[in-house]
Amino acid sequence: MSGYEASCPSCGATLVFSLGTSLLKICEHCGSAVARKGVNLESYGRVAELLPTPSVLKLGIEGGYAGAPRFTLVGRLQLDYGAGTWDEWLMSFSGDSWAWLSESQGKFHYMGVAALPPVPDFDELGVGRTVDLGPPGTFVVTEVRTARFMTAAGELPFDVQPGSLLHYADLSGPGGQFATLDYGTGSAAEALYVGREVTLDEMGIRAIADDEERRKKARAGSLSCPQCGGPLELRAPDQTQRVACPWCGSLLDATRDLAVLEALNKVPVKPLLPLGSKGDLQGTTWTLIGFMERSATVEGIRYPWHEYLLYEPRKGFRWLVEARGHWSFVEPAHTGDVDAGMDRALYRGQAFKHFQGSTASVDHVLGEFYWAVARGDASEAQDYTAPPHMLSMERSESEVSWSYGTYLEPGEVWKAFRLEGSPPEREGVGMNQPSPYTAASRAANRWALLGAALAFLVYLFFLFTGGRTVHKQSVTIPAGVAPGSPEATVFTERFFVQEPGNLQIRVEAPVSNSWLYLAGALVNEETGSVDDFDAELEYYFGSDSDGAWSEGSRDSVRYLPEVEPGRYVLRLEPQWEPGKTPPSYTVRVRSRVPRLWHVVLALLTLWAWPLVLAWKRMRFESQRWSESDHAWMESDS
Ligand SMILES: [Zn+2]
Ligand SMILES: [Zn+2]
Repeated sequence: MSGYEASCPSCGATLVFSLGTSLLKICEHCGSAVARKGVNLESYGRVAELLPTPSVLKLGIEGGYAGAPRFTLVGRLQLDYGAGTWDEWLMSFSGDSWAWLSESQGKFHYMGVAALPPVPDFDELGVGRTVDLGPPGTFVVTEVRTARFMTAAGELPFDVQPGSLLHYADLSGPGGQFATLDYGTGSAAEALYVGREVTLDEMGIRAIADDEERRKKARAGSLSCPQCGGPLELRAPDQTQRVACPWCGSLLDATRDLAVLEALNKVPVKPLLPLGSKGDLQGTTWTLIGFMERSATVEGIRYPWHEYLLYEPRKGFRWLVEARGHWSFVEPAHTGDVDAGMDRALYRGQAFKHFQGSTASVDHVLGEFYWAVARGDASEAQDYTAPPHMLSMERSESEVSWSYGTYLEPGEVWKAFRLEGSPPEREGVGMNQPSPYTAASRAANRWALLGAALAFLVYLFFLFTGGRTVHKQSVTIPAGVAPGSPEATVFTERFFVQEPGNLQIRVEAPVSNSWLYLAGALVNEETGSVDDFDAELEYYFGSDSDGAWSEGSRDSVRYLPEVEPGRYVLRLEPQWEPGKTPPSYTVRVRSRVPRLWHVVLALLTLWAWPLVLAWKRMRFESQRWSESDHAWMESDS
């Protein structure tokens, strides 16, 4: 199908529907909205004048991008959802196919026609609900609204009377996709559009920049507060919907010649960072244009925090959020990229733990806002954390949005905005404040583990290579000698210790319901030095009502530390239970025997610092989580 020509039923002028699929045309001569009803035309009467919006486009502008035929903007639709007007532009590709270019808050979305799968009725949609849109994937409903069809120019692909209320839902999907379900004036979906955010550059559109500058200047120039007369400087004039006068605090409607919405005569709060100041964060110079004090009340206690609205014409809006002296840089997050549950949320492969849920309300505002902010605005908030990041959801009845924050050291904020003095002291631990102990604790654990493994290996090495037997001798106790008598005392044969180290002396004797005590000495034949030791063996057994029993042992092990190399003998002076002379005993001497307690000592030393760090880390985390909905929760991130 190609274009279609007819005469205007109101004025008779020639009407050209350039798109074969267009159903509504605004007559350029008389301003009537003319609808195609089969082969007939019907006039809906004159439409209102176009509303002044900050649009940088106009009808007739052409564009083109890779993979598509060139297009022309042939229609302009102006909608208002009660807090501002926005433009939808109809792109016509070579006459037959078309798409929308949606322009709102300085952002553009290319929205193409997609096959409409079965979807819930308008009344059944709620923000946050997921909807399967078929091939494009599963989307999350981010906005459910009813907007008024204010006026139009050019042609439109639907037949709706200007002034009607239109139902629609915006959705956010995987991979940065956006979708709009168009319910028209009814409750059943009529069309589905799927697309993504685009720049005019990539659409091959040259904006009417001169007009843009002119309009900005016109709106920004010499304004004053109608309430107090104070001069107002709009820093984002094309985006601003609400201004809270920095002199008197009154709330003004920037879309209706600064009409006073709420009159105040005193600025209720003083921001730490002044309105209009500029700060360098994440490689961009931002202008601080708005300030809000918000709060949540939990169990009767009010927890306030502050949000600073940052603006940069090409990048849009960001936030600096301050709570109890803790700062975060906050950016919008694509709702379709968030997979949120009760306890955790996933965003771009990063896992976050649920921190707290609350009802957040707006208590005070100052400066400029790109939406129709008002004191008392309340929304449900859910915060998730993965220090130094956080993920936050805000949900009102008609809108849900997510944001992604990154912790900033207070000093960084002061430096970025070149502020005098020092930032206020931090209170407690911030929700997404990185733990100073996490990295250190992990490193210490790694080193301690490595050290432990090494100590164990060294122990194993000595266990198998050390422990050389340097002497072994069996001593017979002559019959008839008295215990402890000089006749019982013996000197062993001489033996050599080759290397310095400990000496293990093991004594074994076949004691049976008796004992053997050995007063011993290690004698260095070269130096004459003497090391005393003793060994005690006792072994008893029998049986009683509980059955057989035994206690004690038939051997005894003693260690002599730090024995020098040299020539040695042992002097052994045995005593025994009178009348129960053991026939003999065996002495075995080993050099350099590894001791398990050395390993244990090494491990204790190795783990002392990691344990201290682990304890500090745990205290830090418990302090963090004490502010959350979860009394204490271990954080391993
Ligand atoms: Zn006409
Ligand atoms: Zn004022």
